[in-house]
Amino acid sequence: MQRDPELAEKSRQLVMTNGPLVAGPHSVLLVVREHTELLWYRAMLDPVSDIRLYWCNSLPMVMDVLRRKHYDLVIWEEHLFEESQESFLRILSQHAQAPVIVLGSQSDEQTVRRLILKGAADYLEKFDLSPRRLERAIRRARYRALAQRESHLREQMDALTGILDRTLFYDRLHQAILRAKRAGKSVGLIFINVDNFRGINQRFGYRAGDMLIKMLAGRIRQVLRQSDGLARVGGDEFAVILEGAGQDYSLAQITDKFVEAFAKPYQLKQRTLEITVSMGVASYPEEGSTADALLQHANQAMFDAKKETGNSYRFFDSRRNQELRHRLQLEADLRQAIRGNMLEVYYQPKVDVETNEVIGMEALVRWNHPEFGLLTPHAFISAAERSSLIVPMGYWVLESTCKHLAELQARGFLNLQCSVNLSFRQFHDKRLTETVFRIIYAANIDTTGFEFELTESSMMHDQEYTLKCLKELTHLGLNFALDDFGTGYSSFSNLRSLPISTVKIDKSFVEKLSDSREDQTLVAGMISLAHNLNMAVVAEGVETPDQLEFLQRHRCDFAQGYLIAKPMPFEDFCRFLEQSVLQPGVPNFGRI
Ligand code: C2E
Ligand code: MG
Ligand code: MG
Repeated sequence: MQRDPELAEKSRQLVMTNGPLVAGPHSVLLVVREHTELLWYRAMLDPVSDIRLYWCNSLPMVMDVLRRKHYDLVIWEEHLFEESQESFLRILSQHAQAPVIVLGSQSDEQTVRRLILKGAADYLEKFDLSPRRLERAIRRARYRALAQRESHLREQMDALTGILDRTLFYDRLHQAILRAKRAGKSVGLIFINVDNFRGINQRFGYRAGDMLIKMLAGRIRQVLRQSDGLARVGGDEFAVILEGAGQDYSLAQITDKFVEAFAKPYQLKQRTLEITVSMGVASYPEEGSTADALLQHANQAMFDAKKETGNSYRFFDSRRNQELRHRLQLEADLRQAIRGNMLEVYYQPKVDVETNEVIGMEALVRWNHPEFGLLTPHAFISAAERSSLIVPMGYWVLESTCKHLAELQARGFLNLQCSVNLSFRQFHDKRLTETVFRIIYAANIDTTGFEFELTESSMMHDQEYTLKCLKELTHLGLNFALDDFGTGYSSFSNLRSLPISTVKIDKSFVEKLSDSREDQTLVAGMISLAHNLNMAVVAEGVETPDQLEFLQRHRCDFAQGYLIAKPMPFEDFCRFLEQSVLQPGVPNFGRI
């Protein structure tokens, strides 16, 4: 294994900059007898030149100096160590790992030829030396060395994917560990292995297999930062080095991003392929203090992940695996819950702030968990989003809400404004509009008051596709509300271009209305801004009469919150509606 630290560092630069190596200031070690000679050569060079000269004059001193510092170039006067020139040249080149220019007084071609054949970068005539000649020789030797190194590095890049090969990768990992040791940081290593790659090669041919590897490399690169190291360490295997993992971000976050990146199908030879990978994760210092140990443990974890189906990953660390197991269990339970009708839709009424009349409701999902009882979305929505279960779950909620709405319309509640939450992950489903269309039309409901609640993140994700979906759904007569308004990075110019008819002010602002002047100003501002854009405003999380009174004063349109009613099962909501019809305009604050 190659472990030249400088080479590894250069390779890092090469990978990071993806361009030619840049020559910086050149440090030159001058091996001549007298110190005055150093002064003389220094005087020859331009004082503002980027060439720095250092001096030494004895073999032990040379060795010592080279051990402690790297020089870009060595100039050696051949009269020093005249008796064993060739072996000295060899030792010098080896220890310096840099080109050696010989400075001599012989002009016979024989000597020049012999020294150059033995590895000298150039031969300069001492008595024929001009400042220009000296400088030019230094620069050219340096450029030649850099060019050589670069081509050597390129040879070591994987020809197919253009990323590091095994040898460079090993150096890089080794260096990353050394850096982490010095800075007290950690290093993450992820092994990514394509499942059944051999089968792919056999079915589609080796060229198709190569194309797939390139696509995978591209997807991995998209997830990584420029400074992260990526290598192809085997035919169907990649490895990733993440410096600072654990401090700057969590390894689980990165592996989740990989899972997401690999989930999209691959277009290969006009065919759509679904490929899965297995990933193994280990990190320095907890799970290995050397490159070898880390590689071994990440590999072992990867083999554990192979036991799972689909895109999967495992940590070498058992504690983290336990967390992962909990997560996977939750996902499995949720899958069961969707199939087994253990989910239920609750409804929370929305009232007109002016008249206190119930104008509609928000559908909020609940999970009747056999072990833990009734779970609110906080316990499972992010697991559903991570695992893409949010897509079938979202359709289930929509279908149930449509059925309930049809029932309400049949009972004579005709003008209710019903909203359903839509997660940004649901836009990953390329058949979103088609499926929504099918569900709504199967339920045979009047969609005038039907609304989807979106958060800003969903709209900023894949803007073009989202906008396309929103437009198609608007054509079906559906409306959109912006949920949790004020918590994201609102850009009104963006919002104006989206078909949004309502904004919902997040409860965190409403909550602070009673004691924060700033929040009062903010809420008042949000209301008037939304009105100026012709949008209706709903205030979420209204819990006190004071808050409601403030909203009335500032002409907020609608309110939703515990003060009016908590989310409730469908049957309770029907009773709630009947009561409000019997006593229109009389708020049922806190009744249910
Ligand atoms: P959200 O859409 O902002 O829903 C409002 C949340 O505020 C609900 O929490 C509701 O119970 C709670 N809330 C309402 N009034 C008050 C109040 O006066 N005080 C306080 N403290 N809270 C109040 P819930 O039901 O736990 O839902 C949490 C979030 O989960 C929702 O926030 C929504 O983003 C998401 N969610 C709920 N159901 C679904 C669903 O079917 N699909 C998707 N994708 N997300 C859902
Ligand atoms: Mg909502
Ligand atoms: Mg909200």
